[in-house]
Amino acid sequence: MKVLKFGGTSVGTAEALQQVKRIVEGRSESVIVVVSALGGVTDQLLRAAGMAEKGDRAYAATFESLAARHRELVAELFGDAPGALMETLAGQLDTLRTRLDGVCTLKVLPEKTRCEIVSYGERMSSEIIAALIEGATLYDALDFIRTFPQQGRHLLDSHATEKLVREAFADFGEMAGRAGHDAAGGLVEGCHPRPDRGSRIAIVPGFIARDSASGDITNLGRGGSDYTASILAAALDAEALEIWTDVDGFMTADPRIIKTSYVIDTLSFAEAMELCNFGAKVVYAPALYPVYPKDIPVHIKNTFNPDAQGTTIRNQAGDGRPVTGIASIGDIALVTLSAPSMVGLIGIDSRLFGALSRQEISVFLVSQSSSETGITFGVANADAEAARRTVDEEFAPEISHGAMRPATVEKDLAAVAVVGEGLKYAKGIAGKLFTILGRNGIGVLACAQGSSDYNISLVVEQKYLRKSLNVIHDSFFLSEYQELNLFICGIGTVGGKLIEQIRGQRERLMRERNLKLNIVGIARSTKALFSRDGVDSDDFRQRLETEGMPITPERLRDEVIGMNIFNSVFVDCTASPQIAALYKDFFAHSISVVTANKIAASSDYANYKDLKETALKRGVKFLFETNVGAGLPVINTINALKNSGDRIEKIEAVLSGTLNFIFNTISADIPFSQTVKMAQEQGFSEPDPRIDLSGKDVIRKLVILSREAGYRVEQSDVEAHLFVPDDFFDCSMEEFWAKLPSLDAQFEKERQRLEAEHKRWRFVAKMENGQYSVSLREIPEGHSFYVLDGSNNIILLTTERYHLHPMLIQGYGAGADVTAAGVFADIMSIANI
Ligand code: ADP
Ligand code: ASP
Ligand code: MG
Repeated sequence: MKVLKFGGTSVGTAEALQQVKRIVEGRSESVIVVVSALGGVTDQLLRAAGMAEKGDRAYAATFESLAARHRELVAELFGDAPGALMETLAGQLDTLRTRLDGVCTLKVLPEKTRCEIVSYGERMSSEIIAALIEGATLYDALDFIRTFPQQGRHLLDSHATEKLVREAFADFGEMAGRAGHDAAGGLVEGCHPRPDRGSRIAIVPGFIARDSASGDITNLGRGGSDYTASILAAALDAEALEIWTDVDGFMTADPRIIKTSYVIDTLSFAEAMELCNFGAKVVYAPALYPVYPKDIPVHIKNTFNPDAQGTTIRNQAGDGRPVTGIASIGDIALVTLSAPSMVGLIGIDSRLFGALSRQEISVFLVSQSSSETGITFGVANADAEAARRTVDEEFAPEISHGAMRPATVEKDLAAVAVVGEGLKYAKGIAGKLFTILGRNGIGVLACAQGSSDYNISLVVEQKYLRKSLNVIHDSFFLSEYQELNLFICGIGTVGGKLIEQIRGQRERLMRERNLKLNIVGIARSTKALFSRDGVDSDDFRQRLETEGMPITPERLRDEVIGMNIFNSVFVDCTASPQIAALYKDFFAHSISVVTANKIAASSDYANYKDLKETALKRGVKFLFETNVGAGLPVINTINALKNSGDRIEKIEAVLSGTLNFIFNTISADIPFSQTVKMAQEQGFSEPDPRIDLSGKDVIRKLVILSREAGYRVEQSDVEAHLFVPDDFFDCSMEEFWAKLPSLDAQFEKERQRLEAEHKRWRFVAKMENGQYSVSLREIPEGHSFYVLDGSNNIILLTTERYHLHPMLIQGYGAGADVTAAGVFADIMSIANI
């Protein structure tokens, strides 16, 4: 014989009930089927009762919708002539309505009445299910589940219950088994609340009970149908207990919060109890106690996917993995009792917990410092003030003498529990937990280990709960692959290419590098799309226009920080100073920044330094390799040289792909002005080509390289020898383009001279002995800058080690493809931390 329990989620709709029918009728063994109220009905009943108590007539509407739901369900399941079942339900609904009306008239809701009202959920659902399942007999749990009162709660009277259950089910399954047929009658008989002995399928309403002494209706607490099922399984020595719900099994974490959680095949009772006590709602924690000592296996199964293997809970050794699952409790508060020294103060703990228990305040986490100067304990937010008062009253004499301080309360926190039998043997788990939380900017406010060997509990701010669960889950369960969550700002040529490249590489990275790149945000100047599940669909440009939320830089910052996603990277593919101004806030919230935007790294030295230091302090990355030489490894090389003890003495470089393109393209047929236009059209130049022509872009790059090489330099320290007169920069864009051809003749004359002298123009940036300059130089044949095609860059690094023969880096220095690839490489290097 097995006990099967179907929760509210499994009995909420006609389709779900048909599914339940198939599962139960398909069984060859005898089964006791425990059922919950239709999903949501218990909440509705409690709401209606609460409204009636306050005299709020709206309870009638709640009642009506609940009544209609049951009637419609019956009509859907049985057609128009449900007969006796409809009568039974009508009788139950009448009594329920009378009780609610009574409460409303008197404006009092005694516990006894509240329990009776809420019992109708299971009483009605069990009637419907008993009628639906062929050969089923309804057993009334009120006949055999008994409770007694303690501190305002109803606790199981196990002795009385066990005896009554055995009596009620004395002949259950036996005769049917022997006779080899179903003894129960059809639909109408199934509605009788009296057991038909010999039936092979028993239907039992979960949750509801009676008080042993008074006989009043009570219940086993929210989620208590699991408990009813377990009590029956234990009392009747069932072969197994099956909990049928709406998920494929017991998962590594709450699947509503952790999208990557997965089903755990087997769990020990100890592990399951820890997880359920800590908020894993999949099984009501007390439900594990009756079956545990008898080692009756518990199977968690999905009503909507019955072929899935599910989870088995039983007494067994773990699979060696230190952590089996994680769970959490939100909305808690920490209360701290402290003293200059509690050493020598006798019986503090017992007085403390005695006082709390007299006030019926439950404590689910305790942390005490070894120097005995403080005890911190966790209670529900709602109990926090009462807990503080209780503690202050209990220790009033000590507080008035100054031997103790008044209790303090910190609210809006959450506790995360990491559970696994393997924790007994594993080393360094707490350290790993603190490190990964710290790296994601999450502080741990209290920690408890050891109340059981299977549980490490950490308290964090409530606002970090989701993120904490994610980072912990990611590092303990998904070590097979790592995730990075990207916010991409700017979808021009570079940003657009980057999104394309990420999409193209995603599969391979998962397969070969165990890295999962999620684009969780895409923004352009005034619009943004965000999604925890990823927004990198093919039509993101279109979706930005139609679904994107309007943004300003500040709004963008608040959204990115507000999403509070673990392992976040902000990728700046804009040239905007307003976006560059956001980096510091990102670092402060443990978000790394990868940027193709040169503004920040070339801004005031103090700002540059501050950004680098903030990132370092917060343990996040600030990467801007593409600021110089697009995808060429220039900044990384300088850092590698410096880190290995070398010293950069001199930098000479052609750093403007745009200018190099212009001076390589200019010819007898293509005048200077046209080369500028071509550079812009082909995407080599900055959107405003004057940033290139004015040398500003090269100055920024030289400043960035010199700073990375260890020099303190400002843009104003760089001497600029320009080749376009000043007045070209002070006018409008239109005027600029109109005036530009006026320079063509002079350039052509000079070009012919250079050609004759076998020289070429190169716009060279130079750093040496504290001198910084950019200038258009005439490079003779044979010089390493002479042959430099298209938009290529070249960088010569003279260092202590590379002294006689400087190190040379050369290649494409501009273009969306290589720049996007450089940004991509920076992102990948974060994944490698
Ligand atoms: P039922 O109505 O069947 O009793 P519950 O809602 O009480 O269902 O419990 C099932 C729910 O528990 C799941 O839908 C899931 O959202 C939640 N849950 C929380 N933690 C876990 C976990 N670790 N594994 C599986 N489900 C979990
Ligand atoms: N119907 C009750 C509740 O919602 C019991 C249960 O479903 O387990 O809490
Ligand atoms: Mg439940």
